[in-house]
Amino acid sequence: MHEASIMQEALAQAEAQARQHGCGAIHVVRLRVGALSGVVPEALEFAFEALKAGTLAAGAKLEIERVEARAYCAHCRREFTLEDAVFPCPDCGGWESELRQGRELDLVRLEAS
Ligand SMILES: [Zn+2]
Repeated sequence: MHEASIMQEALAQAEAQARQHGCGAIHVVRLRVGALSGVVPEALEFAFEALKAGTLAAGAKLEIERVEARAYCAHCRREFTLEDAVFPCPDCGGWESELRQGRELDLVRLEAS
């Protein structure tokens, strides 16, 4: 399961950061997940609940920050929101748009003590 290995990685990263700051417990883990990251937020939540036992994050809450996908058309000089991974510009129909955001998959915040 894709999301399980991603969550394992995120938990390991969170634990490493908490230890670095001398913290013994993680309270909140916040991830930023782009619409085109290929990850299903619900599956991440499920993986988090399954994997957090026995880690510093055993009592932690997972927060997921969803990022919509946006691309920029240099021809029309405008940015637009994408529904899908293929993105013709809604104005000129061009295919040269450049993805600006939507592939994020980051650990953005950690609360620990
Ligand atoms: Zn355009």
